[in-house]
Amino acid sequence: MRRVVALVLFVCLLAAGCSFQQKPLEETCWAMDTYMSFKLWGKDAREGMNAIQQLLSEMEATWSVADDTSLLSRLNRGEAVASKDQQRFLDAVMKLSERTEGAFDPQLNSVIALWGFLSDNYRVPDQAEIRTALKDKQWNLGAVVKGYAGQQAAALLEDLNVDRAVLNLGGNVQTYGEKADGSPWQIAIQNPQGGDYVGIVSVFGTASVITSGDYQRYFEEDGIRYHHILDPATGYPSDSDLCSVTVICRDGMTADALSTALYVLGLEAAAELWRQSDDFEAVFILSTGDIYATEGAALSGCEYEVIYRED
Ligand code: AMP
Ligand code: MG
Repeated sequence: MRRVVALVLFVCLLAAGCSFQQKPLEETCWAMDTYMSFKLWGKDAREGMNAIQQLLSEMEATWSVADDTSLLSRLNRGEAVASKDQQRFLDAVMKLSERTEGAFDPQLNSVIALWGFLSDNYRVPDQAEIRTALKDKQWNLGAVVKGYAGQQAAALLEDLNVDRAVLNLGGNVQTYGEKADGSPWQIAIQNPQGGDYVGIVSVFGTASVITSGDYQRYFEEDGIRYHHILDPATGYPSDSDLCSVTVICRDGMTADALSTALYVLGLEAAAELWRQSDDFEAVFILSTGDIYATEGAALSGCEYEVIYRED
């Protein structure tokens, strides 16, 4: 009898140990103007969570234009000089802009402000104002910084005893490590029309899954919807055939810059950029509701057309 009790106790402890191991540390916060949620598994989960919060605070203090005292705001006013590391980051951002032939433009701040997307005082500016603002090159890294933050956060976890993590930075998802059962992480793609998700992207290991969409931020005036993804060629909200682009990439800042750029480029040019590249996959939702995915995107749960390399 004693042996049975001991065995039962042992099994209970084992189960408790397992469930303790399997239960992630979960936290939510408001940062970078968005709602974020984090799940971390492993012995150093608490330490990892603190390190992520610290990283986000530092990144906001450096790269946010919402903060007048940030380095980026001071760079825009000509009051600061970037350190070597900061300059290296800005150079990498400019390279991504070149790669997209300017569809991702990190110096659109004056145009973004003109439309009211910085202050929430939305208005439709006139052509002359837009022309002037387009010439006024001021940094705004809103299209890239969350992806970069996710990637940097994952890098921090490498130095800690954190087995795996899912970081959701306002709909931009960064995974870290492999799932315990060896299955892929599954990330839902939001339905631009609202309601349920449209499909699921599967990824193994550490990756960024980042979505840009016109439904994420917009205002309406005289029955017209003006959304937040601007075409740098015109200064107006991009009128491409897309309403959502999800990019899957090992590099977070590349994923983020590309999601914005591919939206601006539209399906055909975006597919062409993908064919010339080998570092990302993408899922496109057209304004018609039709869905397209590049051949390596591992999309499931919906009907879609596959975009092949050789077409
Ligand atoms: P995302 O959600 O990553 O596509 O980023 C969109 C945000 O980036 C907008 O809210 C603007 O602040 C800024 N933005 C808008 N259009 C562009 C563009 N073409 N290139 C770079 N940043 C942009
Ligand atoms: Mg982006």
